[in-house]
Amino acid sequence: MLRDLVGLVLPVECAGCGRDDVAWCVRCAALVGGVPWRCENRAPRLDRLDGRGPLPVWTLADCTGDVRRAIIAWKDRGRADLTAPLARAMADQAQRVAPALTRGVPLLVVPAPSTAASRRRRGGNLVDALAAAVASGLVAGGVPAEFAAVLHRARGGDQVGLGARERAANLAGQVWVRGRRRETVAGRPVVLVDDVLTTGATFAVSRRAVEQAGGRVVAGLTLASTPGPARPPALPGTAVRTFG
Ligand SMILES: [Zn+2]
Repeated sequence: MLRDLVGLVLPVECAGCGRDDVAWCVRCAALVGGVPWRCENRAPRLDRLDGRGPLPVWTLADCTGDVRRAIIAWKDRGRADLTAPLARAMADQAQRVAPALTRGVPLLVVPAPSTAASRRRRGGNLVDALAAAVASGLVAGGVPAEFAAVLHRARGGDQVGLGARERAANLAGQVWVRGRRRETVAGRPVVLVDDVLTTGATFAVSRRAVEQAGGRVVAGLTLASTPGPARPPALPGTAVRTFG
């Protein structure tokens, strides 16, 4: 009886695979617990025309199946209890990626910005927790780094349900470094953090904003990466859910 009552108020189902009596099972944790790999070649919007090539972006998993379900549960279905384990996964990833990043001027670790509307809906920018974890993971890996939520995203920049081209148009000019924070960014190497890399549109506009403030984006870290094509086919009877 007591157990039944507790079951009514606590999450007792794995946010990924749905297994009973555990909030985040060992098997799903392992899906984002492996060696980070590079995924920037899946994100066409990260290409730039100046010949410097796409931004290196590391990730932990394909954004499919149980990983995708878990991220949606975390962002949009009230599973804030996943913040801690997902942040731990990002910290571990950052520690493993650290040797690939240059030591010197401390890195700024900057979360991809969210709109005010989505912060209200979710009780804050959930990606902040991932970025803060990345900063501590980099420090643990011997690379000086600090968390800095310097990017602002205008109203109407929500990407849900838009295709690749619409997302890029929607975001253009809608992300910038907040006025007072421009001096924080000037002259600094920056690592961008987001939960999912899809088309790369969010990282591309974030990078532009950082560069306009005099910073230089050196890498991106994400939890998961959407396999191409960037726009997933819609299944009958299901809404297309996409990520920036
Ligand atoms: Zn699970």
